[in-house]
Amino acid sequence: MIINKKPPELLVPVQNWKSLKYIKNIPNAIYFGIDKYNMRLKADNFQRSDLSKITEYCHNQEPKIKSYLCTNIIIYNSELEDLELLIKEAKVANVDAIIAHDIAAINLAKKFKLKFHISTQANISNIESAIFYEAIGAERIVLARELSLNQIKEIKKKLKISKIECFIHGSMCTSISGRCYLSATICESEKFSANRGLCTQPCRREWKMIDDENHEIIYDGKLFLNAKDLCMIEYIPELINSNIDAFKIEGRMKNPLYVKTVAQCYKEAINSYFEGTYNKEKARKWLRKVSNVYNRGFHTGFYFQKPTIKGIQLQKRGNISSYKKQYIGKILSYKESTGSAKILIENINISIENGNKIIIIGEDTYLDDTIKKIIYNGKKVRSIKRKKEESPIEAKISLKNKVKCNDKIYTYIKSD
Ligand code: SF4
Repeated sequence: MIINKKPPELLVPVQNWKSLKYIKNIPNAIYFGIDKYNMRLKADNFQRSDLSKITEYCHNQEPKIKSYLCTNIIIYNSELEDLELLIKEAKVANVDAIIAHDIAAINLAKKFKLKFHISTQANISNIESAIFYEAIGAERIVLARELSLNQIKEIKKKLKISKIECFIHGSMCTSISGRCYLSATICESEKFSANRGLCTQPCRREWKMIDDENHEIIYDGKLFLNAKDLCMIEYIPELINSNIDAFKIEGRMKNPLYVKTVAQCYKEAINSYFEGTYNKEKARKWLRKVSNVYNRGFHTGFYFQKPTIKGIQLQKRGNISSYKKQYIGKILSYKESTGSAKILIENINISIENGNKIIIIGEDTYLDDTIKKIIYNGKKVRSIKRKKEESPIEAKISLKNKVKCNDKIYTYIKSD
């Protein structure tokens, strides 16, 4: 048991209410965006009017969850007035801090006496920069992803007040994060700038390079810009011993299941380190779990060495996890008194069985559940499958959660 050290804060991305409610009790803090000024404008972001409700919800959890609002894109003159209003509203709503890198946003946070964290978009990569931001009052500095563990330790040692936060899991840019104009250039529009939260991710595509004499430059693979995801689950002791104050998981565009799975694994890893039970075998188990949700293959980013070609996912675009979400059918009705739902099984490829783990997703629903009992044609059955020639079939299943009519039922199955 380790008692002379404070556990790092586990900070997770939250896209909307569904994510927030699904991951409750796991993180120490969340970060989120509203429909403007954040790096994931394509996410199903919260509304501005949600600000107070979010902080109230988070602060009422046991233990309390801190909430950080992202305001970390490049800001233009025409937006200053509205940004000021937003930061004022964030203060009134009791948001714990904003994440910013534009001096305009930082100055506004100071004006309204709201704590601010310097975003990774500021690319803080050396002691001088970190001390500069500490001197202007940054509560926390989210260091550039492109730093080694030794460089992180050096910076941490020189800071007296500001805390440091580092990304430990999730997507990596092939460029220096926040310094990429590939999307804007290719789309010929500032509207698709990564630095304005609207990256179209061209680095994930298959590219060819042909010079002006028509020679094709052959790379060892087709997706040569497609960086693998960062995963540090096997190096939690090294990260904790480096005195990083907050561990950040990337992924505000990812679904709630992804966020919960990854966050749960890191929470268990951190707890087990402090309980003195962290070991390689456990770390491999968590690695398998995080490999079952969306990933492009894993590497350790810049922590131990600069990424090589091994840090690029050359062969496959998008998710390489072998677990895929499969649609089963939908809820037709639900009886709260018995906890039973009438469902319509539409997929002909899936057999559902007692004990199957399912996910139920609707407009406001995102729930894990387990099928406890199946009734088909008035009889209890162990499993059921719609035949090819049959129309969608109705059955009744028992669930632990309250669901709604038209909620969709999914399961995750392994596919080769
Ligand atoms: S194009 Fe790729 S490398 Fe550039 S910002 Fe977008 S995700 Fe990052």
